[in-house]
Amino acid sequence: MNFRRGERGPSSLNRNNISKPLLLIEDSRSIANIIKSQVENRWGCDVHVASSYEEAITLLKAHRREYFLTISDLNLPDAPNGEIVELLKRTGLPIIVITGTMEKGHFHKSLHTHVVDFILKSQTNSVQYLIDQVGRFYFNQFTTLMIVDDSKLSREVITQVLETQNFKVVNAGSAEEALSLIESTPEIKLIVSDYIMPNMNGVELTTELRKKYAKSKLSIIGLSSDNEPRLGLEFIRNGANDFLTKPFIAEELIMRINQNLDTMSYIEVIENSANRDYLTNLHNRRYFYRKGEKLLADSKKQNKPFVTALLDIDHFKKINDTYGHDVGDKVLIQLAIFINNHFSHTLSARVGGEEFAILFQEPLPSVLDQLEAFRKELAETTLEFGGNTFNVTTSIGCTDALSTSLDDSLKAADLCLYDAKKQGRNTIVHQAC
Ligand code: GH3
Ligand code: MG
Ligand code: MG
Repeated sequence: MNFRRGERGPSSLNRNNISKPLLLIEDSRSIANIIKSQVENRWGCDVHVASSYEEAITLLKAHRREYFLTISDLNLPDAPNGEIVELLKRTGLPIIVITGTMEKGHFHKSLHTHVVDFILKSQTNSVQYLIDQVGRFYFNQFTTLMIVDDSKLSREVITQVLETQNFKVVNAGSAEEALSLIESTPEIKLIVSDYIMPNMNGVELTTELRKKYAKSKLSIIGLSSDNEPRLGLEFIRNGANDFLTKPFIAEELIMRINQNLDTMSYIEVIENSANRDYLTNLHNRRYFYRKGEKLLADSKKQNKPFVTALLDIDHFKKINDTYGHDVGDKVLIQLAIFINNHFSHTLSARVGGEEFAILFQEPLPSVLDQLEAFRKELAETTLEFGGNTFNVTTSIGCTDALSTSLDDSLKAADLCLYDAKKQGRNTIVHQAC
């Protein structure tokens, strides 16, 4: 999968459906039932329940490899001294411990070693928190974080903490290495950076990163130290999203990371609702014009080719009239999938009801090849909706004229599209300069 910065794949807030089962070990039937039904409802995953140490062993023997997570009570009637946690640690499975009695101090030590979290059952909202943690843990595997620290030991400790939370972790031993890794690893979403490093310190690194990456696309948490209390402020002043003062406990680092990732997800949701079309999730007309004008200006300045293509579904009205508006909507969604499959490397948008536009900074012959492959594949694919099968075709107009405005380029492409319709549809007409 290719990522552009800011489009880093799924974020935990917007996701559902986990395909793997989890193991819940809890001797109270009523608590087990509440957790099982809520996890299954929220995440769609199977929850296997063991109500004793012995039952847990039986389930682990049969399904150990399938589980992505275990949730376990600390004390069980046949294992009253936390033996279950030791057993689960030996299996290597991650554990969320739920307990009525445990003293928190014990867990700070164990948080790094397979224990994802511990939750006191008596706390208000503990079930809701647990449900959220299950999803967070599962979807963290799609989030890449970078640790920047010249101390190998520090990097290893933090990496272990974050890997226990299921994050993907990349390490950099210097600010220079971090700058190069961020270029080659666009899926990095958040950076935890130490302050003192040779050549370039953490605040200087933050300043450098902010020249290129906005706070909403790349989160930075600075680490300052006890004896330099103002460093945290320096981090924030120079563009960090947050800071932590050393020494800190693992849980605090995890909380800050989660908090910052959540904020980024909220911003992503808001941006999507402003920039994307609600039906197809393609970019909308407004976004297309804003980005497209910039691409046109860039092509003129850098002397790069610029091709504008306009696609329109053939006889779409007939599809609506024959099969209903709902099927028409599904065709639009399907077409958007085709457009994404063929043109994810460039700017595309739904610019009208059944009209789509695509911009390329590539020479016309290469664009025509791509458009032809798209046109042909769509025309040859039989669509099936609600028992009806039919084929859909598109007419395409395209031009490589470097017009004074994007509007003029679209008008020129529209004239070609008009010719394509006149020529009998399901064809491409281009105007070359
Ligand atoms: P042509 O081959 O000449 O393009 O014919 P056409 O029927 O595709 O073109 P026309 O412009 O006559 O009809 C476009 C239709 O697209 C009319 C409108 O109801 C339908 N349409 C526009 N937006 C939507 C939508 O969001 N959902 C559905 N189902 N239909 C839509
Ligand atoms: Mg039309
Ligand atoms: Mg049409």
